[in-house]
Amino acid sequence: MRKVEISDERILNSDIFDEKDGERPVREDLGSWHEAGRDLPIYRRCDVLVVGGGPSGTAAAAAAAREGASVVLLERYNHLGGLSTGGLVIWIDRMTDWQGELVIRGFAEELMNRLPADAIAGPDPSEWGSRDPARAAHWAQRTAAYHGVVTWSPTIDPERLKLLSQEILLESKVALAYHAWACLPIVEGGAVRGVTFESKEGRMALMAKVVVDATGDGDLFARAGADFEDDIEEGDIHHCMNTAWLFGGVDMKKWIAFRSGEPQACAAFMERGRAELTLFERPFVSWRDDIALFMGPRQSGYSGLDVDDMTRVEVRSHRAMDAHLAYYRRHAPGFENAYLMLSAPQLGVRHTRRLKGTGAVLRADWPRGVPHADEIGVSPAVSPKFPNISIPYGALVPLRLDGLLACGRHISCDRNSHGFMREIPQCWITGQAAGAAAALAVAAGVEPRAVDIATLQAALKRQGAFLRPTGQALTTPAELAA
Ligand SMILES: Cc1cc2nc3c(=O)[nH]c(=O)nc-3n(C[C@H](O)[C@H](O)[C@H](O)COP(=O)(O)OP(=O)(O)OC[C@H]3O[C@@H](n4cnc5c(N)ncnc54)[C@H](O)[C@@H]3O)c2cc1C
Repeated sequence: MRKVEISDERILNSDIFDEKDGERPVREDLGSWHEAGRDLPIYRRCDVLVVGGGPSGTAAAAAAAREGASVVLLERYNHLGGLSTGGLVIWIDRMTDWQGELVIRGFAEELMNRLPADAIAGPDPSEWGSRDPARAAHWAQRTAAYHGVVTWSPTIDPERLKLLSQEILLESKVALAYHAWACLPIVEGGAVRGVTFESKEGRMALMAKVVVDATGDGDLFARAGADFEDDIEEGDIHHCMNTAWLFGGVDMKKWIAFRSGEPQACAAFMERGRAELTLFERPFVSWRDDIALFMGPRQSGYSGLDVDDMTRVEVRSHRAMDAHLAYYRRHAPGFENAYLMLSAPQLGVRHTRRLKGTGAVLRADWPRGVPHADEIGVSPAVSPKFPNISIPYGALVPLRLDGLLACGRHISCDRNSHGFMREIPQCWITGQAAGAAAALAVAAGVEPRAVDIATLQAALKRQGAFLRPTGQALTTPAELAA
């Protein structure tokens, strides 16, 4: 096990567990089999095709439809939300900056506002940005305070988020295709003009004027030949994989009282857990005090693009869940009556590929605080040491591929910036921008790289996004309102 130290460069400090030596199966070279070519039926034609219904894809589909495009969203599973629902990543990271201003807005804000009150837990807006030690200590136990500042980083009910995301897309007249797995991009003259996909009906083609790759892994831009990066930050959690799970029947108030009231006993509990179980994880709060969330143990040395690795992480995670139940029931105050509620239907993959775009979110730019001319959103910085971070449109546009935009956790950024650009709120931002830009490209009859930036920024503002005037340093919502 490696312990990751608290750093200004990172959002979380967490334990990491390396792959076990000798566990990797050897795959023999068994030769190849020739697949014959064939004509495919065309399932649909649309303006904008969004592949992947995670946070970014959902936002992209809504934004494109709201700009007047005909939109199809293809998703391999039976729900929307991606890792934020099916992956049980129900802790939505920070949407406020270090002053407590809401900078992640637009589609993200709409979603959070429209969730039923009993499906979302977090501090009241009057507390956002509070540095009051007692309030920060309270919310630090509930995933909503960091660096001594209360933040808007709520926990949500995944079923409600699935349902709400679906209803918003249907309201916006997006055509949904679940149980449909995109295979290959259809590339004509250097531009993506659709995809082939597999379903229970067999293989079909889906044609589009612009495709938004929201697969999280850049499946489409990689297969279309776009440039990408896949380097990782060794020793950091951001490339680790695991299957998250929920325990029901717990008393989180009792657990929190133990964790905060008896730090030495809690440290001993954690030490013993690591010694007995090897792969060991602490619980997080959820949207209810009788449900605990486990978003680890985080496993390093595996690839989210390798079927054997993905299988091994599933096997290890499910076994770890069982071992945790026994250990927590025996030793953890509040977990005496815990039961296995759900393991995530979607494997937790944090990082595989990152697009090489015409622009990028870069570590070198963090201290600048100056909005990019093509700003399409604003991210809170990783620590109070840095100003808010400008997200450029170029981070969504492939360097050398037309007909496609990327959004979500595989956008163009360096590996340091990936630590926060992969978070759910940032994926909603880049998704909304990619969807709006795709629709504008279709309407103007141009490739996405040629979309007029002022028109795009105006569309995003109409859709509720927070953007700043170009060139003004350190502009926060409060400074702009003053
Ligand atoms: C264990 C873990 C803990 C995390 N913790 C946090 C946290 O606390 N807070 C936070 O804000 N973020 C957290 N994250 C990050 C966040 O959950 C993801 O980065 C974010 O969900 C990515 O959104 P996305 O839309 O880019 O991709 P995803 O959420 O991965 O969604 C991609 C969607 O595309 C679909 N898809 C993929 N390929 C295809 C295909 N070929 N055809 C059809 N459909 C396809 C998938 O089924 C999926 O629904 C965590 C991630 C993990 C794994």
